[in-house]
Amino acid sequence: MQNTINKSQVIIIGAGIGGIATAARLARRGMQVTVLEKNEQPGGRLGCMSLDGYTFDTGATLFMMPELYARTFADLGERMQDHLDLRRIDPTYHLTFPDDSQLQLTSDMQQMRGRLEAIETGSFERMLHYLGDAGRIYDLSMPKMLGRDFRSLPEFINPRMLQVFLRVKALTRHTDYIRRFFKDPRLQMAFTFQDMYMGLSPYDSPATYSLMQYTELADGLWYPMGGMYRVTEVLTGIAEKLGVHFIYNAPVEKILVGDGVATGVQLADGRVLPAGTVVANADLGYVYRNLLPDAAAADRIDRKEYGCSTIMFYWGLDKQYPQLGPHNLFLNGDYRLSFEEIFKHTGMPDEPNFYIHAPVRLDSSMAPAGHDTWYVAVPVGHINKKISQDWPGLQAHARDFILQRLARLGLPDVEAHIRTEVSFVPQDWQERYNLPYGSTHGLSHKLTQMAYLRPHNRHSRYHNLYFVGASTHPGTGVPTVLISAALAANRILEDAGR
Ligand SMILES: Cc1cc2nc3c(=O)[nH]c(=O)nc-3n(C[C@H](O)[C@H](O)[C@H](O)COP(=O)(O)OP(=O)(O)OC[C@H]3O[C@@H](n4cnc5c(N)ncnc54)[C@H](O)[C@@H]3O)c2cc1C
Repeated sequence: MQNTINKSQVIIIGAGIGGIATAARLARRGMQVTVLEKNEQPGGRLGCMSLDGYTFDTGATLFMMPELYARTFADLGERMQDHLDLRRIDPTYHLTFPDDSQLQLTSDMQQMRGRLEAIETGSFERMLHYLGDAGRIYDLSMPKMLGRDFRSLPEFINPRMLQVFLRVKALTRHTDYIRRFFKDPRLQMAFTFQDMYMGLSPYDSPATYSLMQYTELADGLWYPMGGMYRVTEVLTGIAEKLGVHFIYNAPVEKILVGDGVATGVQLADGRVLPAGTVVANADLGYVYRNLLPDAAAADRIDRKEYGCSTIMFYWGLDKQYPQLGPHNLFLNGDYRLSFEEIFKHTGMPDEPNFYIHAPVRLDSSMAPAGHDTWYVAVPVGHINKKISQDWPGLQAHARDFILQRLARLGLPDVEAHIRTEVSFVPQDWQERYNLPYGSTHGLSHKLTQMAYLRPHNRHSRYHNLYFVGASTHPGTGVPTVLISAALAANRILEDAGR
């Protein structure tokens, strides 16, 4: 059977950024690719919503590691600058600490020196040291861990790789590591909170993720005019130009398998579509549990650890708030306990941290004139059926807390100016995109779920079934998923003898 199937006939389940990028790569190499997406539009967690004149990016808002995006465009025969109008964001973040003091992070080292030294003497030089080390971690992790297709355990566990783990600080906890550089808790927070983007607590994550602080300040944090959703739109357009056929409102119900190969898919409406190659971009845990027959394999994935979720508020406001920057982070309560509540107890702290993305100060097209568009994210634990979780109660508490916190900081009238409001709780993430436990970042990126130890891009039994996306190797975040697409596509092409 394996010899008779036409591997060039490809079906991809899901038009997330991983599915789109894989599709475009395969179509460029002459394969016939159909993408089936359950929703009415592409993008998945790189999504967008337009309401009453307000445009909201619904998931990803931070464009970082631009060279990884650029590489995808280049591999598709395109130039990123012909498609995306990127603007550098500086200051990168407006941070507000629990004691109401504030710090703006910037790539302008003169300004950074003044800001850091005002908090802790000597901290600027130590930050340079920290970022220098983080740059070396970034340069080493990219080829040796993130961008590498590990195919066997000995490729991963060997003396050379042990050296790599040590050099990328994979065996050191990030919060322990940061204490070597800064005494002031605010600086410790300012250079570790980004671990949440990987769905991780900095108290559990390896210091390897200091590479994120490096890349944000060294390579920059960027904004594509029109919003992050432009990335979805332009890559979908390029894929279509290369011949990819996208079918929306087409939920897949089953991956058809037989004789050790995947033979196609069955849609929820009963249609059967044959394929010689099947790529699952829908989240991996969902695919094992719902689309494949092997319950034991699904149980094995289930025993892995998932990252956190978020409660979201998308607010269209009939007033602008120049006090906010494009990316604002409000850290509240006890830093350590806030992560314990989210990651150990799968709950939400009484005084939750929150992030506001306010793109209008970069891009007036995101709201009617004089109005503001806010994306407010509150990290929370994922759905946990073993305990009772009162999501409507937590959602109401988070909303009140945010409004009160902003009032204390000099913005007392926000609620009165909310004209349009949409809110998500973890169940919404689960239902919209089939994300297990509503985990917005998929499988966690702790040490034992990284590199070779993360689910691979090819199924171990069905060798023409591939996985791409946040819960596979190398992991979550748009640039990382773009690497996942490159690895999956290369493997597919290799297996097809192309
Ligand atoms: C709130 C939030 C904030 C984030 N912030 C950032 C950020 O600032 N920067 C950054 O780089 N990354 C960020 N991320 C992470 C990033 O958005 C994701 O890692 C990335 O978009 C995941 O892409 P994917 O292709 O793996 O999966 P998905 O986006 O989940 O795509 C999978 C697709 O499969 C579809 N699907 C599921 N089941 C089926 C089925 N049965 N049949 C057909 N289709 C199906 C889904 O509808 C979806 O469209 C954020 C994510 C979230 C949720």
